[in-house]
Amino acid sequence: MSSEDNCPIPTLSAGDKLHGFQVLRVETIEDIRVRAYEMEHEATGAKVLHLHCDDRENLYAIGFRTPPDDSTGVPHILEHSVLAGSEKFPLKDAFNELHKGTMQTFINAFTYPDKTIYPVASQTRTDFFNLARVYTDLVLKPRLLRESFYQEGHHLEFTDPEDESSDLTISGIVYNEMKGAYSSPDTLMFKAIQESLFPDTAYAHDSGGDPEAIPTLTYEQFKAFHRTFYSPGNARIFLYGDIPTADHLRFLAEMLAGFERTKVESSISSQRMLPGPTYIRGTYPLAKGEKYDRKTTVNCAWMLAENTDVETALLLKITCAMLVGSSAGPLRKALIDSHLGEDLSPVTGLEQDFKQMLFAVGLRGTDPDKAPMIEQLIFETLQKTYETGFDRELIEGTIHQVEFHGKEIVRTAVPYGIVLMGAAYHTWLYDGDPLCGLNFPRAIYQVRKKWEENPAVFQETVKKWLSDNRHRVLSILEPSSTHIEEREKIFKQKMAELKAALTPEELRKIKDEAISLRRFQSEPDAPEAAATLPRLKISELSREIDKIPTEKTSLNNIDVLKHDIFTNGIAYLDMAFDISDVPDALQACIPLLGKLTLGMGAASLDYEAMAKRIALRAGGISCHLAAGATVDGSRTWQKMIFRAKSLYRNVEETVKILEDILTAGDLSHRERMCDLIAERKNSLHTSVIPSGHLFAMRSAAAALSLPAYRDEQWHGITQLRFIHHLAGEGAAGNNDLQEKLRSLRNMIFRKERLALNMTADSKGLSLLSVAAATLIEKLSGNREHGNPHETSLPSPAHAGIAIPAQVSYVAEILKAPGYADLLAPSLLVAAKLLSNGYLYKHIRVQGGAYGGMCQYDPLSGLFAFLSYRDPHIVETLKVYSETPAFLAKEKVKREELEKAIIGAIGALDKPMDPQTRGYSAMIRDFTGLDDKMRLNLRGRILDMEERKLMEDLSHFLVPALGSSVIAVFGEESRLSAANEVLKTKLNLEPLV
Ligand SMILES: [Zn+2]
Repeated sequence: MSSEDNCPIPTLSAGDKLHGFQVLRVETIEDIRVRAYEMEHEATGAKVLHLHCDDRENLYAIGFRTPPDDSTGVPHILEHSVLAGSEKFPLKDAFNELHKGTMQTFINAFTYPDKTIYPVASQTRTDFFNLARVYTDLVLKPRLLRESFYQEGHHLEFTDPEDESSDLTISGIVYNEMKGAYSSPDTLMFKAIQESLFPDTAYAHDSGGDPEAIPTLTYEQFKAFHRTFYSPGNARIFLYGDIPTADHLRFLAEMLAGFERTKVESSISSQRMLPGPTYIRGTYPLAKGEKYDRKTTVNCAWMLAENTDVETALLLKITCAMLVGSSAGPLRKALIDSHLGEDLSPVTGLEQDFKQMLFAVGLRGTDPDKAPMIEQLIFETLQKTYETGFDRELIEGTIHQVEFHGKEIVRTAVPYGIVLMGAAYHTWLYDGDPLCGLNFPRAIYQVRKKWEENPAVFQETVKKWLSDNRHRVLSILEPSSTHIEEREKIFKQKMAELKAALTPEELRKIKDEAISLRRFQSEPDAPEAAATLPRLKISELSREIDKIPTEKTSLNNIDVLKHDIFTNGIAYLDMAFDISDVPDALQACIPLLGKLTLGMGAASLDYEAMAKRIALRAGGISCHLAAGATVDGSRTWQKMIFRAKSLYRNVEETVKILEDILTAGDLSHRERMCDLIAERKNSLHTSVIPSGHLFAMRSAAAALSLPAYRDEQWHGITQLRFIHHLAGEGAAGNNDLQEKLRSLRNMIFRKERLALNMTADSKGLSLLSVAAATLIEKLSGNREHGNPHETSLPSPAHAGIAIPAQVSYVAEILKAPGYADLLAPSLLVAAKLLSNGYLYKHIRVQGGAYGGMCQYDPLSGLFAFLSYRDPHIVETLKVYSETPAFLAKEKVKREELEKAIIGAIGALDKPMDPQTRGYSAMIRDFTGLDDKMRLNLRGRILDMEERKLMEDLSHFLVPALGSSVIAVFGEESRLSAANEVLKTKLNLEPLV
């Protein structure tokens, strides 16, 4: 058990006054080792929450309530624009300067349906306060130039900017970002549900912006929105980390000086209960030629209790998780088993980012005429659940999951502080207690008590909030291959009418403004302006590397890595099986083997019983596939890795579960197999549009290296097409598949292929060792290990993959050397330099794409140029190809180089949670990357000079670009249009 000793010593008490702040309360939350201080700024009324703990990744976030009253996206456009610059920091893009020139570990801004939050984090104290200082100033006193509004929001321009006779069009970063978002069925479904559940509130509008409404926003409205909501009186400031509270208060007092208390009317009104259900229908874009059947999604959604009703909120959280959270959930099971659709709608689960929560559930891969049956099935199942109650094990398992996830320290794409921040705002924003969502042991205690007092408490929650709740919606989202076409036609017509109504002077004005915007964008900041930003010096960066404690040992002849790390009472085990000799033809089956191994029954338990057992004992079990080259590029490795985690008290049982699924897995249940295949097909399919740049990268990279080819076979369109084919064959193809999977399983899950990786403190490590020893005994082994097959890579071909999206994703991939090569440090720095400078400017700022970037991955030996949600194809490829010429002409300035070095070092120092530290050490071991090499690489990056970088780049880029591979994901007509201009044509292919 954790104790109060793990929390920092209290430094203030309730009632204390310091630096103009009053301490309202001080609380201790032992299980996350936090001392929490809730405070208020006396002069302005700004609210402050500090979670003081020993994490050195400190987080600062300032948030405002920003309920919109239309769908022009004004909160979102403002979120982009305030970060451009302020009077004190008069830059054109301060955000980008901070992004590249600091040791930030997180810098971002989020627009929610009713709030806007600006968080920054860093592990370095000076850097943290630099970032927080600039951020606060930008947010409270932005310049909000007209140019920023045009660039980030929307502006008119000619398709050929210099030519008034060409068509009029609209451009803008948020405008294009939202066009991308409005191509995604999940976004469209969620938006439809939100609007119809909350018709009388701010949630009836889209704070992100509807592409059709964005162009109606005026510059004056945009400025007025800032005046109304961005004042300290409407601010909630969230702080997290090891910097003492008093230091934060001193800093904030300085930042808030001069502001007065103003009355801000920003309260979020509650939606009144509606008398009966709403039924709505909509469409989403489907690629031309794709069939319509089984492509509809049907969702049911309910408005629930207020977030601030803490007890009900917790009961609902657990009840909803029981219904659909695992494959043992009765509602999930009934829907899947009905075969009315292929798998659960991605819009399923409890959503807390609204004043009143909502719960949604439904089926994807269905047809519109099945909607009434789906609705009926949902209500019958809820009724049955109310009558018979939940299985005891399911309740215990769900409560265990709440306990586990409350305790686990997670640092994935976002800092741990961000996770806690999200939970705090769920109640804080609506004037509730910000800490109630963080104190999970207290929550669990309360739920258990309620359950003891009333064993039917969960059933009654189902009845009151779901079965009997008339405030609900049934939403049908159908495919349409003319969805985009229709919108484009209306848009073109609107633009033509607009153009026809304009006088020649007005047309010239549009042209001049667009040209002057371009000029504004391409001019660098004045040196005086650039000098206003606080800067880190290279000499301030540490030359040391973070070493991960690693003991290399063995257990029953199996290689084991042990990492003695504080994990807050959670043990992590990775089991890595070598799959480098699995024949090429079977490689695409491996991801499915992973999914079925985890998702079907084992050891005479069916999948439902297994799911319950996993929820009750493990924190989670997952399967990952990874491949890479060794540091010198001479060999490659390929692994199938099962990862399990559990509380110390459950280690033995969790490892026993692993043993059962690996040695006694049951692959015979055909229907279940089909369901899991359909689920994988759909989730992979819907991930294409949101991650189009990654799919494009995989697709192009496959011809360049074996690890990249494997990545494409496992996670790219090759995988998608393979799964589509299987799903199409249905049960008929199962015989052959079952046979393949069985032989793969016998081939892979063997002792001689295994390596183990353990992460926990010494107590957890010894628990893991004991349990793993038994598991190893049970695995079969002793057969000769096969030799890696000679795999020939696909021949390089430029591809154009047709997807139904209003924007494109353009990837150009170059073969690059590995870690040990002397070019590696230069390429790491160059990737930052080009991403932050050249590509950012030409692809995002001028091109209007949401993103343009460069990535160098020494592990797979690739250097990638990528664009994200891009309105262009040909122009973007031109920008990529002109990189060497640009570098030769512009030269690299010392200042830009320093920022790129800081960025490259920042990427190496990215904070990791305990399990990721252990996992990374294992990957480094496979790669042969030791601490000496890491230290050496870091030194070379820190000492990088302009001349060396330029020499290395010209040596690398010119020949590598000559043999690069291109892949573009985009709408068919755009791809064909691009081919008319491109010298090297793209091979056009449908997605599946
Ligand atoms: Zn945005």
